[in-house]
Amino acid sequence: MKILTVENISKSFGDFKAVDGVSFSIDEGTVFGLIGPNGAGKTTTLRMIMNIIIPDSGSVSLLGNSHLDKATNQIGYLPEERGMYKKMGVGELLLFMTKLKSMNKKEAEKQIDYWLERIDLMDWKKKKIEELSKGMQQKIQFIGTILHNPKLLILDEPFGGLDPINTNLIKDIMLELKENGTTIIFSTHIMESAEKLCDEILLINKGRDIVSGRLSEVKSNFGKNNVLIEYDGNDGFLKRSDQIIKYDNYGRYVEVQLKKDADPQKLLQEAMADVRISKFEIKEPSLNDIFIEAVGSENNGESNHE
Ligand code: ADP
Ligand code: MG
Repeated sequence: MKILTVENISKSFGDFKAVDGVSFSIDEGTVFGLIGPNGAGKTTTLRMIMNIIIPDSGSVSLLGNSHLDKATNQIGYLPEERGMYKKMGVGELLLFMTKLKSMNKKEAEKQIDYWLERIDLMDWKKKKIEELSKGMQQKIQFIGTILHNPKLLILDEPFGGLDPINTNLIKDIMLELKENGTTIIFSTHIMESAEKLCDEILLINKGRDIVSGRLSEVKSNFGKNNVLIEYDGNDGFLKRSDQIIKYDNYGRYVEVQLKKDADPQKLLQEAMADVRISKFEIKEPSLNDIFIEAVGSENNGESNHE
């Protein structure tokens, strides 16, 4: 079942087109990464899904409803701006957040204690929000979005501002929620976290879809153009080969980027004619490689026209 369907949404601010005809849909139980550089239009897209910003054109359907109101108790949303009522107590604020989702108080209190323990902030339950560090406040806001066990979780930069330990903690909780059937869409400009978590991605740049699909397919479509070679001998084959875009040579170990339709087997033959090979590995591109290549070539392409 499709949990979320976005059809051809666009949004301009004055003359500037922040989101330009973006479409995607998300199956139940999927972790979906909305990725792209700063200013790509991720937050604007998520705000349109949440009906905070009204699209100029296009449509959004959430849990089968074209109107968010009907689905709001089944959605958890972590906005990019981390505003919380600073003077409120931690427990008090969390209880308030569950009330907004029409949660029963007894169940709410049970969930609050469970999650405060999980994120290691139980001792802070009676403190005021303003007494917590930014990262701690962010963890509180994160659990505030999941207390009501939403079917769909929408997280705008959930790892922004967190240290590596807390990043891991939130990542683990996201995976655990996924195991329990929660569908998750999150935005990030940090490729490592997207790479570990996502089943599917949509990479946007300047408001437009540039790469999308299941992460495994995106990677294989992108081609396996990176080769690692461990060798012993003279590196003449690297200079002679017409298969190579560039290489990074460490003496006995070289990382090679092949041309798009190059044949790694041919490079292997060329290498074998020159050197002894102890390792020849065709490496799948990382999401970071894909990001840099896709965004970089788009941006270069455009500046050439200017
Ligand atoms: P991202 O979340 O991918 O970093 P945003 O969606 O926040 O990007 O912003 C996309 C672009 O739209 C940016 O260039 C930003 O300056 C612009 N933008 C976003 N919100 C507004 C607004 N309310 N008014 C004017 N410009 C905006
Ligand atoms: Mg953003």
